[in-house]
Amino acid sequence: MLDDAKGFAVDAIALRHELHRWPELGLHTPHTRDAVLAALEGLPLDLTLHRTTSGVAALLTGDRPGPTVLLRGDMDALSLQEATGEDCASRIDGVMHACGHDGHTAMLVGAARMLAERKGELAGRVLFMFQPGEETGHAGALHMLDEGLLDLPPHAADGSPSAVEHAYAIHLTPNAPTGVVISRAGPLLASSDSLTIVVTGRGGHASQPHAALDPIPVACEIVQALQTMVTRSIDVFDPGIVTIGRIAAGTTNNVIPETAVIEGTMRAISARTRQRLQDGARRVAEGIASAHGASVEVIMGDGYGVTVNDAAACETVLSVAAAVVGADMTVRLATPTMGAEDFSYIVDRVPGAMLFLGCTPHDRDYTKAASNHSNTVVHDDAALPIGIAMHTSLALHHLSH
Ligand SMILES: [Zn+2]
Ligand SMILES: [Zn+2]
Repeated sequence: MLDDAKGFAVDAIALRHELHRWPELGLHTPHTRDAVLAALEGLPLDLTLHRTTSGVAALLTGDRPGPTVLLRGDMDALSLQEATGEDCASRIDGVMHACGHDGHTAMLVGAARMLAERKGELAGRVLFMFQPGEETGHAGALHMLDEGLLDLPPHAADGSPSAVEHAYAIHLTPNAPTGVVISRAGPLLASSDSLTIVVTGRGGHASQPHAALDPIPVACEIVQALQTMVTRSIDVFDPGIVTIGRIAAGTTNNVIPETAVIEGTMRAISARTRQRLQDGARRVAEGIASAHGASVEVIMGDGYGVTVNDAAACETVLSVAAAVVGADMTVRLATPTMGAEDFSYIVDRVPGAMLFLGCTPHDRDYTKAASNHSNTVVHDDAALPIGIAMHTSLALHHLSH
């Protein structure tokens, strides 16, 4: 399988480099979509161009009836200035493919080409989902679901419903050697909710605090109390995180400002802890503000849910990986990681699994490699044929019988 996939690697690597040079942000990635469409040209695919985003759904119909397997690749980049010095480094100031989504797109195109050649072997269909807007809460996957991603016409061979029954996604990670496949059953990634707290007091002269109502010490107390709330009210075996990433207040050293703003993120791997964090953050902020006579507004943005891998789908990933890369390169992850993914919306509706694919060359120390979202992160091209082989093998696992 891997040898076959290597036949598609040259084109996949060229496509990744092209996308890497011209990264795009958010829900509208027209250049990326056009590059994907050009690379898919001539293949026997039914294409649906989404209207609300640059999403593309490409349906490959096998010669015999059967269920549909969804394979997903995300297409968007991040707002940061690339500093890798690579030949294919971003040509766009302040935008970089720092999460490997260029590779995800290229691997999915490669898999579409490879599976199209094997259409005669397929009992069922493959739905290739090219989605923008994974990063920074754009929820591109949710937009595509809302636009009917899973509402497929009947299978052309016999008119059977051929619903989407399995879903898989690959995420490149520089924190493992190239070719290592990592996954786990159950929660893989966390929910992510934004938190904004606006404390309002009363401005005044710094020398007359009794005549004003200083929001700054109140905000400081809230930040501290949020950490106590986490350690004292969240079960350590069902973890949660509150990180305050920004505090803003005041203009100069001798003025008491009217407001102080706190911004952060809350992460959990269960609905129970997610709710406890939301309730706790509100209680702490309102209670402390009230104790000091200040008023407070707590705004929580409902972000991505927990990405929960279906147990059977995860076993499929690990057994397919053992065949593609070898059992010694297949890792069952002990614990979830607290990042977040909008693939969570897909696996909420369809049993499926995400896997991590290592992409730091074996002659370099992966424990010291720059992580995703770093402006020096580099993704090894040698991972691409392995991702193509994984996508293809996962589809064939369900559809070739
Ligand atoms: Zn990312
Ligand atoms: Zn990502």
